[in-house]
Amino acid sequence: MAVRPILEYPHVALRQKAKKVRKIDKSILSLADDLIDTLYEAGGVGLAANQIGVLRRVIVIHIPDEVEPRIYVNPEITHREGERDVEEGCLSVPGYHAIVTRSIWVKAKGLDRQSKLIRLRAEDLLAQALEHEIDHLNGILYLDHLESHQDLIPNEHPAAEVAEVGA
Ligand SMILES: [Zn+2]
Repeated sequence: MAVRPILEYPHVALRQKAKKVRKIDKSILSLADDLIDTLYEAGGVGLAANQIGVLRRVIVIHIPDEVEPRIYVNPEITHREGERDVEEGCLSVPGYHAIVTRSIWVKAKGLDRQSKLIRLRAEDLLAQALEHEIDHLNGILYLDHLESHQDLIPNEHPAAEVAEVGA
């Protein structure tokens, strides 16, 4: 287990599509552990493997009220419903946040660390985090959902702001 450096925009790994995991072996479990350690150290809500330079489809999410971090391998959004505007930031784009249009709720699926298929219906922060992190696996950043990078808002207090909304 290790805290890994988080790559920052415009690093090329953030623009590449991560590859599907065929088998959840020791290296994937170790990757998931590193993602969790790195996420906790950074104080964000979620992290995708691309953000530490590993192009495999693995994400972790930690919702503040939940005890355990969530790990999803090969996650996919299977259904989206509605639109809402939410405040969002990204650990790979430090110092900024913006208002992004996301779904009101989503259905998603993915494998857990025991290779068991998990299906879930998510709303609020979890839905937003799933959309944000799965975007990362496809080389998409939240900036891409803005009409212009001029819509980025500088954080007045970067550390506090990123801890609140960073993913
Ligand atoms: Zn992000």
